Amino acid sequence: MTAETEPKKLVVLGATGSIGQSTLALARKYPDRFKIIAITANKSHPQLLKDCLEFQPNFVHLMDEKVATENDSRFALHNLKLYSGLNNLLSYLRNCEADIVVAGMVGNIGLLPVFTSLQAGLKVALANKETLVSAGHLVKDLIKKSPGADVIPVDSEHSAIFQCLQAKHQSFKKIILTASGGRFRTSSLKEMNETTVEEALKHPNWAMGAKITIDSSTLMNKGLEVIEARWLFDCEVDLIEVVVHPQSIVHSMVEFEDSSVLAQLGWPDMTIPIHYALTHPKRMPLESLPSLDLVKVGQLSFEAPDFKRFPCLRLAYEASRNSHSFPAALNAANEVAVAAFLDGKIDFSGIPTTIEWCLEHHDTIKNPDVMEVIEVDRISRDLCKQFIERDRRSTH
Ligand code: MG
Repeated sequence: MTAETEPKKLVVLGATGSIGQSTLALARKYPDRFKIIAITANKSHPQLLKDCLEFQPNFVHLMDEKVATENDSRFALHNLKLYSGLNNLLSYLRNCEADIVVAGMVGNIGLLPVFTSLQAGLKVALANKETLVSAGHLVKDLIKKSPGADVIPVDSEHSAIFQCLQAKHQSFKKIILTASGGRFRTSSLKEMNETTVEEALKHPNWAMGAKITIDSSTLMNKGLEVIEARWLFDCEVDLIEVVVHPQSIVHSMVEFEDSSVLAQLGWPDMTIPIHYALTHPKRMPLESLPSLDLVKVGQLSFEAPDFKRFPCLRLAYEASRNSHSFPAALNAANEVAVAAFLDGKIDFSGIPTTIEWCLEHHDTIKNPDVMEVIEVDRISRDLCKQFIERDRRSTH
């Protein structure tokens, strides 16, 4: 354990992504608070090398073995050893002396690294949605079983709920998860069906990667957050209500037993929840951020989500109610469907249609273990790809 005055030692998984880069920016700004001891990426080796030269971590890792082999000499020129492959990453996590593992990688690739970190009794600042969505029941078990293991949410909504729940001895009645409503909040179904990839990639409030921006525009992002919240805060999925809040100032709310509601507010800037996950339970100053100016914001408005125009939100609730292997199947189908949309293979309305078909054809596995979750993921992806190809052949 690092002493109070020493910087916290951070492992950043998915360092070249949006959450990873924001974490590195915090370490750059506050070297007295955070020390980067390991950074990993999937394939983005130029950015990884640049970050290595700046932060001088002890462990550098690229998940993609082929890309790593092609580039390890570039790293060697700077006396850096580049590790690759899943097993090397897992054995590093089993033995590392991190105070916090920041899980910022996107996709199912995050599952085993997060599991291994928790098994090793590490604290995980979790931004990787897939882990909780696909295997939330296993994450809960691991936290119980492994002394020291914990999950601190990084996502702005979950961080807000987590912050509202810091006061002890209070049980809550309901979680109110806010959604910006995404790109198509006020669009008609016809406009949504005719949208282009470029249009769908414009998010009104948050700057994020392509996959999550599309997930925001279908409201699947909110659906996945509902499933995550269910595990993070240990409640029935129907105690989580989604409210559309276009200004993205109220990041989420909790209603307590006496009907009192606490909310967490702030500018939509991921720096705040990432920093809180890293400094928790303390709060520390973030110098460059301006204070929230409610007069400038002017108005906070709320509306009900439209389950008809956004069937992905309904599908996520249904998968969560069905539980077992359904959320893992939903998540995999969504990844394939979004990738197919970004590739121009299906139109926007094809995303929910594809996912729904996959869920209808899903063979449930009760209480899947981690290898079964990975298997469900693979089967669901194959099923989804078959459906998309079959559909393309029949329409072209
Ligand atoms: Mg979010």
